[in-house]
Amino acid sequence: MKKLISLFLCLCLAAGVATAEAESADAARAVGAKWIDSGLYGTFAGMGEIRPQDDFAACVNREWAENAQIPEGEGLTSARTELERANNDLKIQLLTGEKKDDPELTSMQNFFAMLIDWDTRNVTGYQELKTYADDIMSISSIGELTAFFSDPERNLYGYPMIDSIVMADAEDAMTHIMNFCNPAMFGSTDPSLYTEGNDGPMLAYVRQLSEYMMKRLGYSEAEAEEIFSRCFALEKNFAPAAAEYLQRRALEGDAAQLNPTTVEELEKKMKNLPLMDIYRSLGFELSGKINLWMPGTFDVYDSLYTEEHLEELKAWVLVWTLIKTSDFVDRETSETAVKVSAPLTGTEDMLPDERYAYKAIYELIPGMIDKLYAEYCFDQEVKPQVTELTKMMIDAYRVMLQEEDWLSEETKAAAIEKLDSIKLHICYPDAMPDFTDVKIPSKEEGGTLLKAYKSINRSKMNSEIHRLEVKNDGVLWNVQIKYSELGAAYMPSENSININAGICGGDYYDASWPLEKKLGGLCLVIGHEITHAFDSEGANYDKIGNYRDWWKAEDRQAFQERVDKLLAYYSKLVPVPQLTDKAYGEAGARFIQGEAIADLGSLKCLLSIAKQQKDFDYEMFFTQLATVQKAAKTDAAEMQYLRTDNHPVECYRCNIPVQNFDEFLETYGVKEGDGMYLAPEDRIRVW
Ligand SMILES: [Zn+2]
Repeated sequence: MKKLISLFLCLCLAAGVATAEAESADAARAVGAKWIDSGLYGTFAGMGEIRPQDDFAACVNREWAENAQIPEGEGLTSARTELERANNDLKIQLLTGEKKDDPELTSMQNFFAMLIDWDTRNVTGYQELKTYADDIMSISSIGELTAFFSDPERNLYGYPMIDSIVMADAEDAMTHIMNFCNPAMFGSTDPSLYTEGNDGPMLAYVRQLSEYMMKRLGYSEAEAEEIFSRCFALEKNFAPAAAEYLQRRALEGDAAQLNPTTVEELEKKMKNLPLMDIYRSLGFELSGKINLWMPGTFDVYDSLYTEEHLEELKAWVLVWTLIKTSDFVDRETSETAVKVSAPLTGTEDMLPDERYAYKAIYELIPGMIDKLYAEYCFDQEVKPQVTELTKMMIDAYRVMLQEEDWLSEETKAAAIEKLDSIKLHICYPDAMPDFTDVKIPSKEEGGTLLKAYKSINRSKMNSEIHRLEVKNDGVLWNVQIKYSELGAAYMPSENSININAGICGGDYYDASWPLEKKLGGLCLVIGHEITHAFDSEGANYDKIGNYRDWWKAEDRQAFQERVDKLLAYYSKLVPVPQLTDKAYGEAGARFIQGEAIADLGSLKCLLSIAKQQKDFDYEMFFTQLATVQKAAKTDAAEMQYLRTDNHPVECYRCNIPVQNFDEFLETYGVKEGDGMYLAPEDRIRVW
């Protein structure tokens, strides 16, 4: 349910945005702390009756929440995680099940078996890793470092320590181009945080885990600390340029990451770092246009790519290699990783073996597991059903756009044209990607975890190379769409909505349900994704996905006024009043605006469908809508959500949309003075 173009490859970077800028509420609290955060685990203890007229989400989900149990090793349970868990069980059954005549499935089954074979890992894990670590530390010149980066057999990071992605060119959406995002960063944009004792949970995690692993590799404590401090001495140089980018991003949105240049210009500009040559030796054909997300960070990287900084560069590569492979060494390392990441994840418990192994594989190569899920675990009848529901939603949306009286005929026509051009990516791709280049032999056949890791990295690189060669015509789904996961997304750069197979179950969908429940469940998600095409970011992209203004100026102005009203409303809200009196504030409201607009737009579309039904059961519909937002999270997990997730907290995703519509107020007899009441003049509908 994210608009994926705006995702940072390094998610921890994004984490800094909302917290740093969230504003204190003070006087706003009385107004702002409108409802309790009913998604907080244990929050209902000792509480009296809650009426639907006062807090609808709390009322509907209370009974579930009071009986909810957060699974071992996790920080929350919710409608999403329940279905996710059921889906994962199916995938685990497949990965541990009988062998079939399918080399892709066999490779994944072999990988899984090696992951849960702790006895072997405890013996050989560090032996294997040591050969890679020694190789890094034996590099004695910048030329040798470049040779190392150019050889995927040696470099477990895969790339020359930068995050890159091949995706649609924002100015020519049918063409894929290379995007260099940023050098590898552990996530802080504040240089002062790269010091011990001041480093916050993310950097502290990296410090503790990498130093632990270095000691296991045979380094003394002093050596490990020394290597680590060299890594951070290098990385903190990127922080100011990354911070500058984030500031631009907060102001300009996606436009901040559009910094096109040419391969030629970039080659001329980079004096020390032969980035293009390295990519060419990895197999990429780079020519013409290229885009930089955080241009300043590459200037810094180039200036540091010198003999003088060689030891720092090596330390940086080593620390990253250790963090990336920490899941593939031995049991004690995996347990240590979980412990030192507890301040980030909210749990110190290691997942049970099979869940751990599944998660490790899925994080590495989701596309391959997605494909196996679609082929072996998913009811093939569902895809045509969901396609029909999506078309019904698009039809209703068309009428809705036609009836928007604040838009000129011209902009309305362009909006409808965009709506009708949305590519429908439903459940799984019609043409499945090929993963036969992933070759993972079993332990008996000579397979090891790091060899498997490398084979997967190489396959991912091959698919990026392939993507660069083909048109962005919608046949290939975006790599960020993980369709066996519970999720859905609008992709502005290709004007597609993606409704994953993994969301078509649980509280979201069942083929046997009446229309009311389908509308309150999966259709709510579909309408949400359609609305992303017309939210503050999506509205900047045209019908084929070009970043181009298709609005009449006065319509854009009217749209912005509607958005501003929504921002003003959210900025005063205090999302977790049980834990903090901080309101979203202006920056926080901007961070979640796209998702808030999408929730509201979807509900409007759904209600227009409801209106046409005979004897529509509104109570059933609204109850389902609240049910999909049920959640019970630990305090740490909720605070992490607040910092990193660009959706409003779940109870707001229910209460705020519904309080904006008469159908809800009438169904439950909500009156002025009730918690759910919102006067007509205060309503915040953008669409
Ligand atoms: Zn969304």
